Amino acid sequence: MTSSPDKYCVIGNPIAHSKSPDIHRQFALQVSHAISYEKQLIDLNMFQQDVLALIKEGVCGANVTVPFKQDAWQLAEIKSKTAMVAGAVNTLSFKNGSVYGDNTDGVGLVRDLTINHQQPLLNKRILVLGAGGAVRGVLQDLINEKPLEIVVANRTLSKAQQLADLFNGEVTVEACNFEHIVGEFDLIINGTSASLNNELPPIPKSVISSATVSYDMMYSDQETVFNRWAKDNGAAKCIDGLGMLIEQAAESFWIWRSVRPDTSSIIQQLRSNL
Ligand code: NDP
Repeated sequence: MTSSPDKYCVIGNPIAHSKSPDIHRQFALQVSHAISYEKQLIDLNMFQQDVLALIKEGVCGANVTVPFKQDAWQLAEIKSKTAMVAGAVNTLSFKNGSVYGDNTDGVGLVRDLTINHQQPLLNKRILVLGAGGAVRGVLQDLINEKPLEIVVANRTLSKAQQLADLFNGEVTVEACNFEHIVGEFDLIINGTSASLNNELPPIPKSVISSATVSYDMMYSDQETVFNRWAKDNGAAKCIDGLGMLIEQAAESFWIWRSVRPDTSSIIQQLRSNL
């Protein structure tokens, strides 16, 4: 008798747009693992009940997307250090009767920058725009790369200040609003959701030098409005978040399956299918 494949899913609301099933099925094919991976729409008010039902059905793990990353953090009985600091969980594992929570967004961003795009972060001056869940999830991994300084700028200053208070330490992390950003940066990461509406955070062009790299966590089949703005103002290189999406998925796959898939071919394939 052949055993049935291990079950995984991505949970969110909405969920129809998610590329995670495509990505994880490609990973599984590549490393010859038999898994199933589906999208699961979760009722906005039923997160805990719906996840417990999935566990009863024998699901081994779930990726968590908007708006449930904080709920997943609450549910996880055992959290990784990264998830602990991030205050959000995007990867749940169900094993030995316990719920484990991790956050792979930061690893995804850093691997995309440093490995796929060969952009070391050591001693770099980094500007991070936005102070929502995604930014909170990536700051510790950026700090681990020992940049010179990180400035977090946000429309709502108090949220940027909270993150600076939380993360300032081995690397200087400062907060400001968009109008008060001073100087040029080696790397500018757009972690606002402004690009989703084709809007730009109102930041001065003086942040860009001819060596600046811009990174928009959003991705699209065309250049994002933020990356276009950065390029028009002289940035050396502009990267979107598709690689981060696939790298964070690869890290989840590693957590669940103890195998790291090769991401480069899958990034190319997804890019051509956008
Ligand atoms: P949140 O809703 O938690 O935070 C949104 C942030 O964007 C806040 O800082 C908010 O500012 C700011 N913002 C929203 N609209 C504007 C605007 N018009 N002008 C300036 N700032 C604005 O979202 P997330 O942190 O979860 O996601 C942020 C982005 O990152 C999204 O585009 C998402 O798609 C992307 N992302 C990509 C991933 C990937 O793998 N590539 C993974 C995770 C996220 P304020 O605090 O003032 O409201």
